[in-house]
Amino acid sequence: MDFVYNDRTRQLLDEVRGFMHEYVYPIEEEIYEFTHDPANLWVVPPQIEELKKKAHAKGLWNLFLPHEYEPYSPGLNNLEYAPLAEEMGRVNWAAEVFNCSAPDTGNMEVLARYGTPEHKKQWLEPLLAGEIRSSYLMTEPQVASSDATNIETSIVRDGDEYVINGRKWWSSCVFDPRNKIYILMGKTNPDADRHNQQSMILIPAGSEGFEIVRSLRVMNDPHSPQGHGEVRLTNVRVPVDNLLLGEGRGFEIAQGRLGPGRIHHCMRLIGAGQRALDIMCKRVEERVAFGRKLSVNSSIRQDIAKSRCDIEQGRLLTLWAADRLDREGNKVAKDAIAMIKIAIPRMVQEVADRAMQAHGGMGVCQDTPLPEIFSYARLVRLADGPDEVHMSQLGKLTIQQTLEG
Ligand SMILES: Cc1cc2nc3c(=O)[nH]c(=O)nc-3n(C[C@H](O)[C@H](O)[C@H](O)COP(=O)(O)OP(=O)(O)OC[C@H]3O[C@@H](n4cnc5c(N)ncnc54)[C@H](O)[C@@H]3O)c2cc1C
Repeated sequence: MDFVYNDRTRQLLDEVRGFMHEYVYPIEEEIYEFTHDPANLWVVPPQIEELKKKAHAKGLWNLFLPHEYEPYSPGLNNLEYAPLAEEMGRVNWAAEVFNCSAPDTGNMEVLARYGTPEHKKQWLEPLLAGEIRSSYLMTEPQVASSDATNIETSIVRDGDEYVINGRKWWSSCVFDPRNKIYILMGKTNPDADRHNQQSMILIPAGSEGFEIVRSLRVMNDPHSPQGHGEVRLTNVRVPVDNLLLGEGRGFEIAQGRLGPGRIHHCMRLIGAGQRALDIMCKRVEERVAFGRKLSVNSSIRQDIAKSRCDIEQGRLLTLWAADRLDREGNKVAKDAIAMIKIAIPRMVQEVADRAMQAHGGMGVCQDTPLPEIFSYARLVRLADGPDEVHMSQLGKLTIQQTLEG
């Protein structure tokens, strides 16, 4: 295992880092104030669109897209992309500026892998150009959706159309005014065996019968302008061509989508954790309590040391998982993906928590990005499958692999 960054990665890393310093950090507070002003709910800060143009012009665009999707991107593999995503993860909205943000990245992978030439023209190309946004609608309020076989939304064929009825929630990005396409998972074949009942279908935004019922806030933050919606679908009709890959193949698509998506969250979280530690180190050197700097207290030094070890372990584990994903593919590397999905969000949550504690009251207010980092790590312990589900699968796999030698 050799995780020394190659020349191309080093060059791109310098460029992404330079871009963050020149354009992103200077407007971080401004963007926070804009997106948290109730008058701007679901309004895209104009600065984001400006920065997208700049990043695109510099070729810092669609960096997440692996080799097979050239010429839309530099064609980086996961190992090359990891340090770049880490850098973007230092500011919670920065990935979007490089057209590398969830849920679009996963949705672009789905369209690139499973879309027809027409789907690609209509939806993938504008997504790759950063002109539109998208959502992924799987989770439902009335069933335990960590077991995706429970998903109930019905997709019924009627002549040349499919008719969709059901409820969804935690549909990220549905409030974004730029959103034009939803990828929905539902049931086409209720009588088939458990893993062949589900399909995925494309629903254009604005379809009749598609209703956003309410916004779900994450720890009371609406995450404007993307948001997370609860959605009701009543007799939504789409052409049969909108079905991806074929009836009953929803699980196959979900596996392809979630592997890279999970690893991208972890890459960004390493950057978020590192940022929390950097902020903590600066603060404890400045702040004086009981006649001495906070930084001389052994408990503070221990917290910093533990955080540094945790982040470095997490970074190496993430690079190792990225490398395995590149060399072995989603299916074989599923144990590595489960390991980082379990370990990294929990680790970053703890690092952010230590940094918040060292800041006193300042640590829980808007004066630092620490609450956002904490909340990001916390929500990734649920999104893309809760910790327990990944632990259950990894435990089972580990027993199997051990017995098979
Ligand atoms: C901020 C955010 C954004 C999201 N974005 C999207 C999105 O864009 N699209 C989308 O479709 N979904 C999205 N989700 C939903 C997310 O994927 C689900 O919340 C998650 O899969 C869990 O499903 P559930 O909420 O139905 O929990 P449930 O299935 O009801 O599970 C509840 C809890 O039970 C426990 N549990 C479950 N299974 C086991 C087990 N085998 N062993 C032990 N304990 C277990 C876990 O602790 C779990 O958290 C998002 C969630 C959040 C918080």
